[in-house]
Amino acid sequence: MDNSLGLSGMLLRIEKSSIHDGEGLRTVVFLKGCNLHCLWCSTPESHSDRVELGFDSLRCKSCDACIKKCLSKALSRNCDGRIVLEQGRCRLCFQCQQDCPSRALLFYGVKVSVKEVLHEILKDEVFYFHSGGGVTISGGEPLLQAKFTCELLKGCKRNGLDTAMESSFNVPWQIATGVLPYLNTLFIDVKHSDDNIHEQITGTKSAMILENIVRADSSPELFELVLRLPLIPGLNDDEHNLCATAAFAASLTKLKYLEVLPYHRLGSATYTKLGLDYTLTGLPTPTISYVLDKCRLIKSSQPDLPVKCFSKII
Ligand code: SF4
Ligand code: SF4
Repeated sequence: MDNSLGLSGMLLRIEKSSIHDGEGLRTVVFLKGCNLHCLWCSTPESHSDRVELGFDSLRCKSCDACIKKCLSKALSRNCDGRIVLEQGRCRLCFQCQQDCPSRALLFYGVKVSVKEVLHEILKDEVFYFHSGGGVTISGGEPLLQAKFTCELLKGCKRNGLDTAMESSFNVPWQIATGVLPYLNTLFIDVKHSDDNIHEQITGTKSAMILENIVRADSSPELFELVLRLPLIPGLNDDEHNLCATAAFAASLTKLKYLEVLPYHRLGSATYTKLGLDYTLTGLPTPTISYVLDKCRLIKSSQPDLPVKCFSKII
């Protein structure tokens, strides 16, 4: 057996039939672990590279069956009545979850092999064929598990599948470059063009990310590049940043389009389940006309730049 198929990685989840993460119908493989912490992140359960326990207090019937079931004494209640997991004690037997009568316990993350994920991906081969779709590796940050991601992409390629990866590219170039030969499309977020503001809103400077994008763009590999701008009102949607981002995107030779992703709050409930605070509580989601105005501003600064928003390229 090919040893690389036995390589294991930390998976968050696999979503089937996605239409938002590349061409056609796609299977999206979300990996766990991220080295950015964007204030608006909609998948806080992807931040840690370890298995985590989520607790849905709205579902919990306070029966304490989970606490009694746990032979490792890894579960207890804190003073707010929240179920708390002591990671160091947990043996990941999942008995507590199975005994919960109300599905109030959620485990985020599971160790899987490349072979297991490939097996799951190939179940939908016929849908990729008919829709022009394929596989997208996402996260978290797939390049924090670069060997696993690389072997998974190679396996997809061996089976003739279209491949894409969503990455922040916030890793040293030697790591970023390894996956490029196995990609059809590379999606990278550009969250702010100013290094200091980027650090304030994501926890990390942007210099390495931008440098990696430029190096990838001039590499001999044949993938297409999609830059994505998460549009967060008041944080990165001022005219100066929009025009700087547009100019950067327009300078790239492999660019397919710049995609504007309007701010949404879909992941905010997961913060509560993990016992975390959602920082942007007071920030309303932008209206369609607000977003379109911002797209027109981008377009007016770079008329030849393809800009995608709400599934349309303008
Ligand atoms: S998974 Fe097993 S060890 Fe971990 S908290 Fe649940 S019952 Fe305890
Ligand atoms: S078993 Fe489920 S319902 Fe009962 S206390 Fe634990 S989380 Fe709550």
